[in-house]
Amino acid sequence: MSDAPKQPAKPSTPSLNPFPLRERIKMPRQHMPEQSAEERARNYGEVNLGYSAELARQEALRCLECAKKVCTTNCPVGVKVGEFVQLILAGDFAGAAAKIREDNVLPAITGRVCPQEDHCEGACLLHKKGESLGIGYLERFVADYEQRMGIHSFHKVPPTGKKVAIVGSGPSGLTAAGELVQQGHNVHVFEALHELGGVLVYGIPEFRLPKQIIREQLDYMRAMGVEFETDVVVGRTVTIDELMEEEGFDAVFVGTGAGLPVFMKIPGEHCNGVYSANEFLTRINLMHAYEFPKYDEPIVDCRSKDVAVIGAGNTALDAIRSALRLGARKAFVIYRRSEAEMPARAEEVKHAREEGIDFQMLTAPVEFLSDSKGWLTAARCVRMELGEPDASGRRRPVPIKGSEFDLPLSVAVMAIGTSANPIIQSTTPGLKTNQRGYIDADQTTQRTSRKGIFAGGDIVTGSATVILAMGAGRRAAKSIHEYLTTGVW
Ligand SMILES: Cc1cc2nc3c(=O)[nH]c(=O)nc-3n(C[C@H](O)[C@H](O)[C@H](O)COP(=O)(O)OP(=O)(O)OC[C@H]3O[C@@H](n4cnc5c(N)ncnc54)[C@H](O)[C@@H]3O)c2cc1C
Repeated sequence: MSDAPKQPAKPSTPSLNPFPLRERIKMPRQHMPEQSAEERARNYGEVNLGYSAELARQEALRCLECAKKVCTTNCPVGVKVGEFVQLILAGDFAGAAAKIREDNVLPAITGRVCPQEDHCEGACLLHKKGESLGIGYLERFVADYEQRMGIHSFHKVPPTGKKVAIVGSGPSGLTAAGELVQQGHNVHVFEALHELGGVLVYGIPEFRLPKQIIREQLDYMRAMGVEFETDVVVGRTVTIDELMEEEGFDAVFVGTGAGLPVFMKIPGEHCNGVYSANEFLTRINLMHAYEFPKYDEPIVDCRSKDVAVIGAGNTALDAIRSALRLGARKAFVIYRRSEAEMPARAEEVKHAREEGIDFQMLTAPVEFLSDSKGWLTAARCVRMELGEPDASGRRRPVPIKGSEFDLPLSVAVMAIGTSANPIIQSTTPGLKTNQRGYIDADQTTQRTSRKGIFAGGDIVTGSATVILAMGAGRRAAKSIHEYLTTGVW
């Protein structure tokens, strides 16, 4: 029986790929060059080093050029994967980057942090045969090429005279801004922090997403005409109503994220040495603890200490891998479910294991113990077993009686989730929220209950992913443009 894919390839234009499908399926996925685990565990340099042009071409040759573009339909922003891969095969790397930019204004970022296994790569036909096409790696390659060459591929259109305010400079806000400015609107981004980028800059560490990459993407957006203003807390410095009534903004997009920390509410959680992941990572990323000894940020002193993170999402792994790089002696992930339920990106789990992170699965803290001065000394933990599925569809962890043990620790980081940033909701009359405090917005148009106000990203869905936030920003931009050009709400 043939091992060729069931779905025949029917490219509309002649393929540039000389290999028959049968051979492409057998080609191994090209490995991403990376720093060795031993070396990188003690520095903040980027783990993945990026494909060379030759590796990118070799990987592009694996594409099956399927007639049904499931990679595109499974991408929340609809990147035309097949077309950009063909351009790589043609050696037109700038053209490939421009093709991605038709749908995705932040390709160097998504090429690094998007959970491709849940979207394009998860749907790739090669995935069913073995290893999917390295779509994220290829995206990163052409985006970095474009950046290195200083190529700008956007088009300027005549100004419409309409003003749009974007509140928050995370991926949802940046995407909405990038799309709207290309339609001729005057776009102004307001950011509460002193640095732009949202979680991309204050949450995701340098070794996964270098700050320079974000700065370059922001410069690209400035060149497109987007204006940025930092240190403006909308709802405090200025309200949305003031922006619309006094500063002449015709529409507002709210992309303020879900950055409020959540705690377990267990005894001892407020002793010294227990942090929220948000605080821990912000101190490292925005207050430069990662640049020790150039910057001395003592509160995240992990040197020669035993550190644990509670939780197993991307945030948790970023926190514990950062602690390792700050000099932790032992670094633990404490997670109440099993490996199969871990929400972090597959690549991050693999990297963390290689770096020597100790995963304590099916384990949960029940109390934090401290010394007479209130400093953390240990986490009292209990082992769990998996019971019946809960509301999330995952098997519920159930404590095993008598399994308690103490894990000596000096630092613990809580990364069990976040909740909505509340300022906008409480200062914008008539803006409806759901029971959990997130803004109510239509899933297709991103319209809220207030005329002219749109919302998207984590502030609507709760904590999710970069690409889902970008998808919301894109839908919002489309519907803001319709509203501004037709006047119909
Ligand atoms: C540590 C960490 C690692 C992650 N890793 C990944 C990953 O690898 N892959 C992935 O896909 N997802 C990852 N995520 C999730 C992803 O980063 C978020 O889902 C995404 O950033 C949400 O985008 P957003 O635009 O909705 O909000 P955010 O990125 O949260 O940005 C919101 C911005 O709004 C600003 N703001 C808030 N209130 C106001 C106000 N009143 N006025 C002005 N500005 C305001 C905030 O300061 C912030 O800059 C990670 C999250 C964290 C915390």
